[in-house]
Amino acid sequence: MNSDFYKSIGLKVGLEIHIQLNTKRKLFCHCPTSPEPVEGHKWVFKRYLRPARSEIGEVDPAALLEWGHNRLYIYDAAEGSSCLVETDEEPPHMVDDESLLIALAIAKALNMKIVDEIHVMRKIVIDGSNVSGFQRTMLVAVDGEIKIEDRRIGVQTLCLEEDAARKLEERELEVHYALDRLGIPLVEVATDPSIDSPELALKTALKIGQLARLTGKAKRGLGSIRQDVNISIAGGAKIEIKGIQHLFMIPKVIEYEVQRQLKLLEVRDELARRGLNPSMLRGDIVDVTHVFEKSQSKIIRKALSTPNGAVLAVALPGFKGLLGKELQPGRRFGTELSDYARVWGGVGGIIHSDELPSYGITLDELKKLYEELGANLEKDAVVIVADEKSKGEKALKALIERAKYSFIGVPEETRAANPDGTTRYARPRPGAARMYPETDIPPIVITREILEMAEKYVPEHPDVKYKKLVEKHSLSKTLAETIINDLRLDFYEYLADKYGDKVPCSVIASIFVNTIPMLRREGIPIDSVDEQVIEQVVKAIAEGIVAKEAIPDVLAFIAKNPGITVFKAIESLGLKKPELGELDKLIEDVIESNKEKLLSRRDKAFNIVMSEVMKTVRGRVDGGLVAERVKTKLRDLLNIET
Ligand SMILES: [Zn+2]
Repeated sequence: MNSDFYKSIGLKVGLEIHIQLNTKRKLFCHCPTSPEPVEGHKWVFKRYLRPARSEIGEVDPAALLEWGHNRLYIYDAAEGSSCLVETDEEPPHMVDDESLLIALAIAKALNMKIVDEIHVMRKIVIDGSNVSGFQRTMLVAVDGEIKIEDRRIGVQTLCLEEDAARKLEERELEVHYALDRLGIPLVEVATDPSIDSPELALKTALKIGQLARLTGKAKRGLGSIRQDVNISIAGGAKIEIKGIQHLFMIPKVIEYEVQRQLKLLEVRDELARRGLNPSMLRGDIVDVTHVFEKSQSKIIRKALSTPNGAVLAVALPGFKGLLGKELQPGRRFGTELSDYARVWGGVGGIIHSDELPSYGITLDELKKLYEELGANLEKDAVVIVADEKSKGEKALKALIERAKYSFIGVPEETRAANPDGTTRYARPRPGAARMYPETDIPPIVITREILEMAEKYVPEHPDVKYKKLVEKHSLSKTLAETIINDLRLDFYEYLADKYGDKVPCSVIASIFVNTIPMLRREGIPIDSVDEQVIEQVVKAIAEGIVAKEAIPDVLAFIAKNPGITVFKAIESLGLKKPELGELDKLIEDVIESNKEKLLSRRDKAFNIVMSEVMKTVRGRVDGGLVAERVKTKLRDLLNIET
């Protein structure tokens, strides 16, 4: 789809980019943000959380949903990475100065207006990811902009907040968290919704991430930059998508969400064309257990063998065929309804008539089911849930509400990203009523002195950088222009400073500008490769262990074999640079076994030997070096001058 298409459907995208800061201490306590593994004291504790009313006395709908799950939260804490602040048994310490200075520097780089006074607020979060039931956050700056080629994207807010606990495991009634990540400072940058194409969204996200990294104080590695995306189209609804694993997934997620909203509008139009309206959806939930008493279906037998197990059903009059309609790859309208049943009822899923007969349910049972519900086999859809009866009831109630909304179009939701870029319903969009003041921390006045101190973290102007790349690093203009827009510009600079005397800077830059994008296009999971690994590869070139030509193969091999060391990868691929002696021996062998041919075709001798030797050492040795050794050996052994 091109950008004209996205303009024609009124695509609006806003981004929220979260960047972890690499500071000495956490935002509200003195624990380190990069804990060394310690063999010290570890402890585990448990909590139940309940929603509190906000400043204006309302309870947040998303919080109420979580509370309804009645889950137990289990926390792992360890000395060296957590203290009594993370466990919510001690008041927060004062805001970390360094974090604040970095946040201010990023705000300056985004041309934002910095607030006069910072107030720490508590934002209600009761999915257990904050032990206290709230996340502390503070607004630092508003109203900035970022330039992406000829476009200006507004930056609405920049907040400094504490990161949440790390989820280890989730079960139906229990969620298990580790506290090491809780309290790490995060900068949250929110753009306005003026982004109007998936490509522009990616470029904006990369640019914001890059600016943060150029302060030299952003964390690196998987999960250190996280992004939420708000997406809407004309006639659709604002959808917030969380948990996108990687920046490079943003365009795919937007593309699929646009597709989903367009398809839901088609469902709406089809319902109207069929002359249906929401009042026809009576939503009577009927216990149809007796229909399936002798059923051979494994799903149904399993549900009925549990205490209070039942099969419940509901008819969706006139919906025949719509539940099977695909909204995103592998996800149908029936999947959307199923999501509501899962989230609100805690059931494993639903079975709907557009996929029947199947799952061991016979045509006979299906007919009986329709009869039981007074439904029309030709026109109506039927949904069944086989589970504990009370859960099934909650599930179908939520499902009916969702089905009713299909007459309006797209419901506003918070959705979670799947690894393939499709999304699933997570919860209703949180209301505005989820903030109240943190009374343990006094407001911070932003003085001129503080602003001056922040100056040292403000990234160098791109023009200054560009000059350095061309003049000092001898990059071509094209290479310099591309690397200057790369998310890992700062990492490139680090590598160039450290290895630039042994490896040409253009070779290092090319890893980011050419090799990694090429591998990504080939579908190789290159973004999971750690930056430490990339550094090891550059180091191996600097030390002469491997030739620069081997970079793509080595990186691809490591991406496909996670955990393997760079040296092992080089060895496994047979790319270890031969010693000069080995190379000479190889050339001598080739000359020896082709001796007669070479002597009879002296003018072609060089080419013959060269091509034969390169077959063995391609990607491992520099071609220039091979040529030089071939010439020497031809002269020494056969007296052939080339
Ligand atoms: Zn702590």
